[in-house]
Amino acid sequence: MTSEQKALFIIFGGTGDLAQRKLYPSLFNLYKQGYLKEHFAVVGTARRPWNDERYQEIVRNSISGMEVTAKQANEFSSHFYYQAHNVNDTDHYETLRKLADELDSKYELEGNRVFYLAMSPQFFSTICQHVKTQGLVTENGYNRVVIEKPFGHDVKSATELNESINQYFPEKDVYRIDHYLGKEMIQSIPALRFSNNIFNALWNYRYIANIQITLSEALGVEERAGYYENAGALRDMVQNHILQTVAMLTMNAPTMYTDQDIRKEKISALKALRVYDKDGVKQNFVRGQYGPGNGQVGYREENQVAPDSQTETFVAGRIFVDNMNMAGVPIYIRTGKRLTKKETRIDVVFKNAPYNIFGSESLKRNILSFKVEPNPGMELRLNGKEVNFDEYRIQSMHLRHSHGEDTRSKMPVGYEKLLYDVLQGDSASFSHWEEVYYSWRFVDAVRQAWDEEKLSQEEFQNYTCGSMGPQAAKELLKEDGNEWYFRPDEN
Ligand code: NAD
Repeated sequence: MTSEQKALFIIFGGTGDLAQRKLYPSLFNLYKQGYLKEHFAVVGTARRPWNDERYQEIVRNSISGMEVTAKQANEFSSHFYYQAHNVNDTDHYETLRKLADELDSKYELEGNRVFYLAMSPQFFSTICQHVKTQGLVTENGYNRVVIEKPFGHDVKSATELNESINQYFPEKDVYRIDHYLGKEMIQSIPALRFSNNIFNALWNYRYIANIQITLSEALGVEERAGYYENAGALRDMVQNHILQTVAMLTMNAPTMYTDQDIRKEKISALKALRVYDKDGVKQNFVRGQYGPGNGQVGYREENQVAPDSQTETFVAGRIFVDNMNMAGVPIYIRTGKRLTKKETRIDVVFKNAPYNIFGSESLKRNILSFKVEPNPGMELRLNGKEVNFDEYRIQSMHLRHSHGEDTRSKMPVGYEKLLYDVLQGDSASFSHWEEVYYSWRFVDAVRQAWDEEKLSQEEFQNYTCGSMGPQAAKELLKEDGNEWYFRPDEN
């Protein structure tokens, strides 16, 4: 049943790209569905000297591509208020507090506040400090802080950031966003694993041969080169989205499907990641950088990129979660920019039957695929009998499920689901600090090994735009007698 939520959102970075492209449309969807009605207000803060009218116009623009009537757009945007504010300036928090208190009584918000930090991470700690010390947190309602990625850039910086946030907000009130966790098919992993005994029984090293995770992007760095040069694919995608996906695929069954129990198991899975030494990184990781091709320039020719940049735009790796259930199962991961197509998918590859009674032709693998995007769905590859009467032959069959048009149109986009969860106080789809810590611990080891060994021009620029990455990413699986099952470059 749809129940109305009461809350004040204070969005730091209210004029920014994330706020306009993701947050306002997501809030509008919650509004259309009746989760937000009369009792909500949004304060956008940023440096620009806008007023409420200008801000409301921006909000209406950001939802203009959606199904919305003029009346809805006006009513929705009338809940939005703007406060020009420099987050480093203590006095501004006083004005913000007064506005927040006024809106609290005007809309009867019962002291519930969501502080959304849609700004560069360098400001996270000062905002938390000021919000707390300048009296913006309430006594009567909840006070939740939503933090965007990246959460630090290594164990050290993440720990410092966490410690400084925890001085003002306890862990239970910190919601670290990883928008992948809001995606429908990522959320479907526990449902499939733990509500079907066929998978519950088979989900371990005895039956799973390997797991393959691909997050491929067709775009290059676009306008984000400045940020990307200092991040690279490892920090930008592996530390968060890919390792969170690994945790969902390898965690043990939670006692119950509650945020506390799920987080406990995810932390255990990430703690069990095998951390490599330098040789281990060399044997198990591949880095790449896109070179020119297919009408696109190479990474080093992009604006704001150093001509001898050592930043990787592609990562592939073989990783292990050393726990009782998954020990020894290689988990192959890869992500990169300027690959063949934009797609996220997971292939869980099962071992073959112990003996092939059908003769010499080898049996195809059973594979369970989660198609995360762009077309959410699932597929199970089985072997079955080929239809003929001369010879008994086995052929591969695909059982496919994809949600119908109707369901798809109702599917929440990532941010909408996550914002709803924040209002509900459900932190299952947000990263707990310990998950972040163990992910960075793993990633730091790879980063350190790479930083110590610079690559030459020929070693980098090692894949062409539009391919599926460097040849070495294919070799990585070949060494184990395996292959990537998702091969859009061969279609
Ligand atoms: P942006 O540069 O578009 O917006 C930054 C906002 O911060 C602007 O509103 C700006 O006015 C405000 N700001 C900057 N300095 C300020 C100051 N001193 N005082 C007050 N306001 C100030 O950035 P963005 O793309 O919206 O990203 C925001 C955060 O979200 C970042 O942490 C980013 O990593 C993260 N993120 C963004 C996206 C995305 O799609 N844009 C996706 C994932 C994560």
